[in-house]
Amino acid sequence: MPFSSFGLNDRLNRAIELLNYQQPTPVQEQAIPAIFSGQDLRVTAQTGSGKTAAFLLPILHELVENPTNHHEIRALILSPTRELAKQILDNLKQLGKFTQLKFAMVTGGDSLNKQIAELRRMPDVLVATPGRLMEHIALGQPLAEVDFVVFDEADRMLDMGFAEDVSNIYQACCLQEGHRPQSLLFSATTGGPALKTMVNKVLHQPLQLVINAVQQMSENIRQQIITVDHDQHKEQVLLSLLQQEEYGRALVFTNTRVTAERLYGLLQQQELKAYILHGDKEPAERKNAMRNFKQGQSRVMVATDLAARGLDLDGLDLVINFDMPRRGDEYLHRVGRTGRAGEQGLAISLIDHNSWNLMCSIERYLKQHFERRNLKDLKAKYQGPKKQKASGKAAGKKKKDSGKGKTLAKGKASSTATKPAQKPKTASRGVSAEQLTDEQRSGMVGMKRKPKIGPEL
Ligand code: AMP
Repeated sequence: MPFSSFGLNDRLNRAIELLNYQQPTPVQEQAIPAIFSGQDLRVTAQTGSGKTAAFLLPILHELVENPTNHHEIRALILSPTRELAKQILDNLKQLGKFTQLKFAMVTGGDSLNKQIAELRRMPDVLVATPGRLMEHIALGQPLAEVDFVVFDEADRMLDMGFAEDVSNIYQACCLQEGHRPQSLLFSATTGGPALKTMVNKVLHQPLQLVINAVQQMSENIRQQIITVDHDQHKEQVLLSLLQQEEYGRALVFTNTRVTAERLYGLLQQQELKAYILHGDKEPAERKNAMRNFKQGQSRVMVATDLAARGLDLDGLDLVINFDMPRRGDEYLHRVGRTGRAGEQGLAISLIDHNSWNLMCSIERYLKQHFERRNLKDLKAKYQGPKKQKASGKAAGKKKKDSGKGKTLAKGKASSTATKPAQKPKTASRGVSAEQLTDEQRSGMVGMKRKPKIGPEL
């Protein structure tokens, strides 16, 4: 199917040609006609699928073909992070290059006054993160003329605590009586109850498109695990990989900022130039790190999950999970940074005895078996649990009934008795897929993740 079959405005077709997009991706093929039909839309599609152009092209077409005399924002695109917002803005500028439309971006961390000045220039399309946009709304920024509102990476916005802001922003777009914007919601996962609530609030009888469910991992990505004995060994393995593996650019993921900083220090000690990206970094530092990494000034970036979603990094061919992510969908988002647009990628996870079961849960979630690998000079003594269950997880010793119940009855609480009741784990406790909540199915494989602290991490 060629792009010409959408009947897009010629100015857009010229931009598509310039970008050398040969033919629409599956999400574009389905979403573009659906958006033209005027319906609200809920799309489940992974980042890297071409979903940004899938919503930008029909919106730009409508704005070019139906100009208005009103000078207010006509399309609003909400993004969870400033990095993703910047990427959307870049794509917007590319696709809208031959139009007269004006674009702006408002995200946290940048100067509010500069943004106010930019908003006075009456952009047609605004890309924003929810927290900062709420500040502009509080200062009187109208959104009542918005005809299109896009919630990009909606599941991520919820993770980051934006549910209320998103709902308030949508309300601000519906202030004119009888006016409701066309709402388009994109998420990489099918999401849990919170996403359902959000969908009910901001979408009206939406058409649902599930393009590539999140479990579908690109076939171009090789996935390996390397077992490690302890933290120091893990660091040696990391250094060895970064020094000896063949790669263009590598992204090393940690679960915490503290570990990210520790590794960054370690790489510097070894004169391995790297960048670091996490939520404690100032926006300017994050911007610089992304720009320099994209421009290839250094080949290694250490990052927390902040970098995992949505970012499109050409030529990233190695992802290392220094820490195993705690959820299957986070694993996918991290690993999905590589193997994009048909390129080959390699994902290596470093596994110690504490993360073995988690790794098995993720394998089960993805329905894949990761390749086991050892480094010649750094082979771990630990090669997985000696006794394994059919799932591959460690087979635990059976607890004997030692009659502790009597002690408890006397009020002497044991450590197990004082623990809060644990939620049943998903696959590990023999729960069938049907018994899982949506959230569990979408990747909460080991533990329930705490909400992130503060927005836009
Ligand atoms: P996205 O999923 O929107 O982050 O897009 C991922 C990458 O695919 C971006 O670099 C886009 O420029 C690129 N892209 C989008 N649509 C197409 C297409 N039809 N053909 C080739 N590349 C595309």
